[in-house]
Amino acid sequence: MAESTVREDVTSLRQRVLGIDREIPLLDGTRVTYVNLDNAASTPPLLDVIEALERFMPFYASVHRGTGFKSRLSTEAYDRAHAIVAAFFGANPQTHAVAFGKNTTEAINKLSYRLPVNDGQVVISTQMEHHSDDLPWRRLGPVVHVRATADGRLDEDDFDRQLERYAGRIALVAVSGASNVTGFIQPIHRLARKAHQAGSGILVDAAQLAAHRAIDMRPDDDPEHLDFLAVSAHKMYAPYGTGALIGPRDLFLASPPEYRGGGTIDVVTLDDVVWAGLPDREEAGSPNVVGAVALAAALQTLTRVGMQTIANHEASLVRYALERLREVPGVTIYGDSDPAHAGERVGVIPFNLEGHSHFEVAAILGYEGGIGVRSGCFCAHPYVIHLLGVSGDETAAWRRQILAGDKTEMPGMVRASFGCYNNTDDVDRMVEMLQCIARGEVQGTYQVDKATGEYTPTGHVEDLDAYFAL
Ligand code: PMP
Repeated sequence: MAESTVREDVTSLRQRVLGIDREIPLLDGTRVTYVNLDNAASTPPLLDVIEALERFMPFYASVHRGTGFKSRLSTEAYDRAHAIVAAFFGANPQTHAVAFGKNTTEAINKLSYRLPVNDGQVVISTQMEHHSDDLPWRRLGPVVHVRATADGRLDEDDFDRQLERYAGRIALVAVSGASNVTGFIQPIHRLARKAHQAGSGILVDAAQLAAHRAIDMRPDDDPEHLDFLAVSAHKMYAPYGTGALIGPRDLFLASPPEYRGGGTIDVVTLDDVVWAGLPDREEAGSPNVVGAVALAAALQTLTRVGMQTIANHEASLVRYALERLREVPGVTIYGDSDPAHAGERVGVIPFNLEGHSHFEVAAILGYEGGIGVRSGCFCAHPYVIHLLGVSGDETAAWRRQILAGDKTEMPGMVRASFGCYNNTDDVDRMVEMLQCIARGEVQGTYQVDKATGEYTPTGHVEDLDAYFAL
């Protein structure tokens, strides 16, 4: 009974993804339905989100201080969106605030501008991070990158060592909830307990985790609570330009906002400013009300379907994909390729095909298979270089080449990543195409663009306007 409920829910979710049946052209002129296996970058919108916006938009108006009915309604919807986001992640609105912004990158940068950091303090992060959870911290001072093991997991012994070494002078521990390269899920609550014991708070960059596993920030008196969470709506089926930083109200209130202007104040005189309360002071200017409503609608759908249902479905899809990828001659999967461990990761699978550049494989999947993936280093250069085992000398040579405007030799991988709506047919389509590539059955001849490293089929003219034009 539970099994069939799971299947029904996920199947109906697929039908609620906009564009799921959309046909796109292939290199040979035929058309196929598009298979999106690039969900780690961005997910398509859910129909529920679009329907919510269709109901909302006729009433859309300025929020806060507008006096008309539509403004009151929009303000209520926007305020409720904050509450829905807080509830979805188990944040207590008494102690924590939700600040909407553009995306995870902006959320983490925001925190980096507000985090009190004393001389001699460090931020502890990891070698596995997306650049968005690394570069903002480097601006503040020394960042300690906890090592990854050879197979790409967090080296928790090294994590423990670094916490012990810097205990009492750690400004923050910043870790991703799940890797955007290998899909590894971090033991965020265990790491939180250790961070707290070392006198630090913890930020979880949940860009890759939030749409795939339930996250509960837990109350402050739980030693394993999460202090800060950053998410992006475009990775959660609501691509309308919103993200959120959730963090303790006290931290936000302890310093003036980093972006200042309309909406952030209670009183301004020529020589004085009284900052507004939360969340207004953290959302300078006119906010993205539409994006916030969209995100809230997406979270309501995910809640209705159930994050456990989604996690079970995605784990079985990862298991299936890892099993099927083994059938492709010359495939190397990075991280953990054991199908038995599928439940310990989100649906992100990085691989390479022997004898082919990652750029080339990704291009052929797209042009000849109608399959969207991504290739390269996925904004996680140190981690990808580590997983590939690229030596220091090779990295230096590669760096020199890139600086000289040539990316053709850039190391990297192909990444297939699943959303909750993908199914085994999608995996089959990718595996069949990879088998064609491995057998040398490729239709096009491809040229490489030196500046980007990307492959495009020679002589192919794409009529994008036939599908959408402004
Ligand atoms: N962190 C991780 C782990 C990510 O995967 C991404 C997006 N690829 C980001 C941060 C940045 O997200 P955004 O581009 O939405 O700011």
